[in-house]
Amino acid sequence: MNLLLIRLIIFAVLFFAGLKLYRMYREWKLDREQADAAGPDGGQMVRCAWCQVHLPEDDALREKGEWFCTADHRDKFLEERRRED
Ligand SMILES: [Zn+2]
Repeated sequence: MNLLLIRLIIFAVLFFAGLKLYRMYREWKLDREQADAAGPDGGQMVRCAWCQVHLPEDDALREKGEWFCTADHRDKFLEERRRED
């Protein structure tokens, strides 16, 4: 009975340790993928100033020194900036 309990505890500890390691690995992999976001064609990745999404420079719109994924986000960003001024 006691041995079973110890086995159960060891199993639980191993399970949670494995889960934590798996999550750490996934985060690490995600970080690496973001670092490698330059893309296979060597194109620069830029970030939309409105929604923070990363996209290739070729697909992005540039306005007043900022990058945007869509014209809609560009308009929203510029409108927000105008309101702040
Ligand atoms: Zn956007």
